[in-house]
Amino acid sequence: MRVIDVHSHIYRENGHDPGWEIPQAAPGPIGPESYVDAVGRSRLAQGGRMVVYAGSGIEKFREDATAVRGANEAAAELVAMAPELFILGFTPDPFHLQETLCMMEEWVKERGAKIVGEIVPYIAGHEREGPEIDAVYEKAAELGVPLNNHSSTTEDSAAIGRLAEKHPEARIIMAHIGGTWAFRDGIKVARAHENIWADTSGWPMVAGGIMEIALRELGASKLVFGTDYPLCDIDSWVSRLERLPVSDEDRERIAWRNAADLMGIGL
Ligand SMILES: [Zn+2]
Repeated sequence: MRVIDVHSHIYRENGHDPGWEIPQAAPGPIGPESYVDAVGRSRLAQGGRMVVYAGSGIEKFREDATAVRGANEAAAELVAMAPELFILGFTPDPFHLQETLCMMEEWVKERGAKIVGEIVPYIAGHEREGPEIDAVYEKAAELGVPLNNHSSTTEDSAAIGRLAEKHPEARIIMAHIGGTWAFRDGIKVARAHENIWADTSGWPMVAGGIMEIALRELGASKLVFGTDYPLCDIDSWVSRLERLPVSDEDRERIAWRNAADLMGIGL
């Protein structure tokens, strides 16, 4: 089955969290090569592609003005190693707004980025809303690219709802369907706004019947496939998508068509 995964990150080896380890990596040192190799052996490689966002480095945004370039260059480097397999995202740093807005333009217009994300306030340490986030949303709308915004709490989803209202021209993917423990609030918010979609990344894809509830409440047109690789395994998540009780047409929408439409790409 063809799949576009709208949600993965590149982490650098640090030896103290699972993000730098890579599911299905061959034994040996972990690096961008192992990432390319492991994704290349996954079911995603059967005609599909994966969006890569920055991972390591975003926690340094506040204190280090150069972190935004380093973190996004790491993602760009990975994408350049296998452009047929990966799609570049751009992760913004609201603490250094002017540099970030310039880079957004460079990344989309010159480096081929198709989406802005993942915006992760709880890791990057910035507010969920405010003038800087507004500026990032406005810029994404101006550049014609969607945004991927993390949500795992009721408050996260409520903030995304307000951003969607304030920026009707922005197209927003709410990550993790609002979170494993707060997905009902995420679903409510996504349902109430025409410009919000929900990605299946993280645990909601495999936890209980969250996907079935999301399907019932949101429908296939609002759902996009995501994993949160390398924190989650690709093939297990694809397998869950394959077994969802939907028509082939709806499965295809969730698997790649909605994402391709949002990012303006073919497959
Ligand atoms: Zn997230």
